[in-house]
Amino acid sequence: MKPAIEVKDKIEQEEAEMRLRSTLNPEEQTNVVEGPTKFRKGPNQSELVCGICNEIYYVGDVTFSQAMSAMEEGIDNPFCCDECEADYEEVSH
Ligand SMILES: [Zn+2]
Repeated sequence: MKPAIEVKDKIEQEEAEMRLRSTLNPEEQTNVVEGPTKFRKGPNQSELVCGICNEIYYVGDVTFSQAMSAMEEGIDNPFCCDECEADYEEVSH
């Protein structure tokens, strides 16, 4: 006869491993996207080019429409990636 308690332990162990794997694999957490990304990811589906380093970044709808309306106002490449923004802030302080 199988001891039932051992089976339960095994299931709990597998569940714990699954939890561990999902926290170790951030790409599966598509809802959590912070700022522009270098690749299409989660809500970041719109392409913008950084006005400073000319790198292509993908941004969410909100950032994209903000950049679009800034361009309509005559601002060239209003989008600035996080890295350039950090550099710019260092310079201006
Ligand atoms: Zn940049």
